[in-house]
Amino acid sequence: MEKQKRQKIQKILQLEQKKGFQNEAVLGGLQNFIENQTDSEQITDLIDGYAEMSPWKREQVIQELNNYLQNDTSGEKSSATQAALHSPVDQATGVGKKRQEQLNNLGLETIEDLLFHFPRKIDDRRNITAVGSLSPEETATVTGTVKKINTFQPRPNVKIVKAALQDESGMVFGVWFNQPWISNQISPGEEVAFYGTTERNYGELQIQNPVWEPLEERHKTRMLVPIYPATEDLSQTTLRWIIRKNLSQYVDQIVEYVPGEILERTQYQPRKEALPKIHNPTSLAEYDKARKSLSFSELFLFNYGLHYHSKQAASKSVTIPVREQFLNQFWNQLPFKPTRDQRNALSDIQQDLASSDPMNRLLQGDVGSGKTVVAAGACFLCYKEEVQSVLMAPTTVLAKQHYKTLQELFTPTDLTVELLTGDTSNSIRKSTLENLDAGKIDLIIGTHALLEEEVTFKKLGLAIIDEEQRFGVAQRKSLREKEDGVNRLVLSATPIPRTITATLYSQFDISRLEQLPHGNKQIETFWVAESRRSEVYESVATKLEKGCQAFIIFPLIEESDQLNLNAARQTKQELSNNQLKDFELGLVHGRLSDSEKQSVLSDFQQGNLDALVSTTVIEVGIDVPEVNLLVIEHADRFGLTQLHQLRGRIGRTGNESTCFAIASPSTDTGRQRLEAFREHLDGFTIVEKDLRIRGPGDLLGPAQHGFEDSFRCCNLLEDLEIMNQARAEVRSALPNLEADPSLIDEFDRRFGNAIRWIES
Ligand code: ADP
Ligand code: MG
Repeated sequence: MEKQKRQKIQKILQLEQKKGFQNEAVLGGLQNFIENQTDSEQITDLIDGYAEMSPWKREQVIQELNNYLQNDTSGEKSSATQAALHSPVDQATGVGKKRQEQLNNLGLETIEDLLFHFPRKIDDRRNITAVGSLSPEETATVTGTVKKINTFQPRPNVKIVKAALQDESGMVFGVWFNQPWISNQISPGEEVAFYGTTERNYGELQIQNPVWEPLEERHKTRMLVPIYPATEDLSQTTLRWIIRKNLSQYVDQIVEYVPGEILERTQYQPRKEALPKIHNPTSLAEYDKARKSLSFSELFLFNYGLHYHSKQAASKSVTIPVREQFLNQFWNQLPFKPTRDQRNALSDIQQDLASSDPMNRLLQGDVGSGKTVVAAGACFLCYKEEVQSVLMAPTTVLAKQHYKTLQELFTPTDLTVELLTGDTSNSIRKSTLENLDAGKIDLIIGTHALLEEEVTFKKLGLAIIDEEQRFGVAQRKSLREKEDGVNRLVLSATPIPRTITATLYSQFDISRLEQLPHGNKQIETFWVAESRRSEVYESVATKLEKGCQAFIIFPLIEESDQLNLNAARQTKQELSNNQLKDFELGLVHGRLSDSEKQSVLSDFQQGNLDALVSTTVIEVGIDVPEVNLLVIEHADRFGLTQLHQLRGRIGRTGNESTCFAIASPSTDTGRQRLEAFREHLDGFTIVEKDLRIRGPGDLLGPAQHGFEDSFRCCNLLEDLEIMNQARAEVRSALPNLEADPSLIDEFDRRFGNAIRWIES
C-alpha cells in the first residue's frame, strides 16, 4: 500500500482509538472508510462488521490493523496527558459526546462516578454444563463448535439467526431475534461459548438470545460477570468495557481514607485494592470482602469528616457533676414508676452531662414512650447545678403542650418553667427575657423563636430539641452556634432503622425507649377497600355510641391543598348528614390559625366532640390520650411510617383500640405497605419493612436523595456492623489523627449534600 494511504488510515485508526472505539473517527463508519482506501483483503476482512462488534473486539481489530500496517505498535496508549479522577466523564477513555449523555443518564458525571458504578449483581457463569445434560429452563454456560448457522425471516419484520452448537455430549441451538449481524460474526467450525436459559421448542433444545463469545475471548462467559445498572441504549458489554478500561487507567489516582494501621488491624482492604475486585471478582467471597472494605472506607471518611467538623464547632462543655441523689429525687417525685428504658436513658444522660465533651444524644422512642419525662429529668439535673435548659419544639402548639406537661411535672419542685413563642405578648416577652438573662428561669420552652439574638441566658447548659415526626430538622446548627459547648438532647419519635440512625446520627450517642409505660398497645388494625367504606362508618357509629372518640384523617395532597381541604370538609358534611348524624363532629386543618385549632382541639379534649375530621395536622400537636378509634381515609397515599405515626395517636393509655385504613391501592408496593401496616404494631419493625419495600431514598423523602446518593459503597440496609465499627475506629483514632485537609475536602465533596440535608 502506498505510504500516503497507509498514513491516512493510520491516522484514522489512531483517532478511533483515542475516541474509544466508538466507530466515530470518520463519517459513515470505519469499515466504509477503509474499504474506500484499500482493496487489501487482509485489511477488509479484519474490519468487516466493525459497526456491530463489541468494544473488546474493536480494540483487538484496531490493534491487528495497526500491526498489519506497521510493525511498530508503541503507540498503544495515547500520548495525551491523563485526565483526573474528578474530570467530567467525557474525558474517560471510550466516552464521546453520545456516551457521555448515556452515562449522565445513569447519574455518572465524573470519571470517578464511572469507577464507582457498581454491579447490581454478579452472575456466576463459571460452570460449563455439558450440552447433553441440559434440562429445559436451566440457565447455563455451554461451549462447543458451531456446526451450522443460518438466517431466516418467518415474518416480514422478524429476522432470526440460528446457530447449532455441539460438544461431545449433544447439540443445542442458539436463536437470536432481529440481530442479523450475528450471522457475520460467527462462522461454522468456530469454537464459542453460549450463556442463557434453555427452553424446549419444536422438540429441540434452544437458548434464546444467548450471550455469546468466541472461546478465545473471556469477557461475558465462563467467569463471574458483573451486571451493571444500565439503560436500553447502553449495553452491558459496552459499559463493562468502559469501566474496565478506565479502571486500569485511573485506579492509581484513588486516595485512601483509612490509615494503613487500621486497615491492617481490621482486615479491610485499601480502596485501590478493593475497587478492581468489585468489577472483576474471581470469587464471590472476594467480591463480598471488597464491597465491605469499600463500605468501611466510605463510612470511615463520613465519620471522620463529621467529627472533624464538630470538633471545630464545639470546644469546652458545660459539665454537670454526677449526683446519684438528684437522680433518685427526680424519679421519686413522679406519680409513676419509670420504665427500665427511661431509667437507663437518664443515667446515660447523666454520664454525658458529667463528661468534658458536650453531650450529643438522640433519644428515640415512639409517641407515648415517655421521652418528655426523661428530658425533664435532664433539666432537673441541670437545675440542681444552677444550669439553665431550653426545650425547642417544632410548632407553637407542641411547645404549649410541653409547657403544660412540664409545669405540672415540676410543681413539686422549685424549678421555674416559662414559655416563649411567637404568640407571647410583648410585655411578657420582655420580662421573660430579663428573667432568663438573670438566671431566674431554669427551663425555657418555645419554638425557633428561642434562637433569636436577644434571647440570652445566665448559664445555658442543656438544649433539648423535640423533633417529633421530623427527620433531623430543628435548627440544630444555629443553636450550636448560639452556645458553644451546650449539651444537646434530641428527641425523635420517628422510628428510623438502626442502620440509618447509625449513619444519619452517627455523631450522636443513642438511647432508645422501646417499652411503653402502659404496656404494649392493644390496637387492632383493619385494612378496608374503598368500596366498603360505608361499613367502616357503621362500625364507627356503633363505637361512638358506646362513648369512644375518633380521629378521621385525610392525607395532605401536596399539589392541591385546597382540593384536599374540600374533600375533608365535604366528608365531614356527608358524615354529619348521614352515618354520623347523631354525633358532634369537628374539623381541623392546616389553614386554621393556631388559636382556632386550639379551640377545636380543646372541644375535642373536653369531650364536646365525638369525632375530629382532620387533615394530617394532628400529626404534630395534639395530645388526647383517651382516643381509641382512628379512621385513615385514602390510606394508600400515606407512607408506611406516616401511617404508623398516625396510629401512634390512639391506644395510648393501653385501652383496646381500633384503626381502619381505607384504601384500594393500585400498586404492588402499595398493597405491601398496607399489609405491613395491618400486621405490625412495632415502629422499628414497620420502618424496616418500609425500607425494604421502598428503598432508603424514598423512606427519607424526595428531598433527601442527596443523603442516600452520597453513600456509594455502604449498603444502607445491611451494613450496621460496619457502620458501628467505622464510627468506633474514628472515635478512637481521631485524637491522634492529623486533620488531613485533602480528606476534609473529599468529605465535603462527597457528603456535602448529606450534611446540608441533615442540617437544613
Ligand atoms: P413522649 O414524649 O415519648 O411522647 P411522654 O413523655 O409525653 O411521651 O409520655 C406519654 C404519657 O405517658 C404522659 O402522659 C406521661 O405522663 C406518661 N408516662 C411517661 N412515663 C410513664 C411511666 N413510666 N409510667 C406511667 N406513665 C408514664
Ligand atoms: Mg412528646
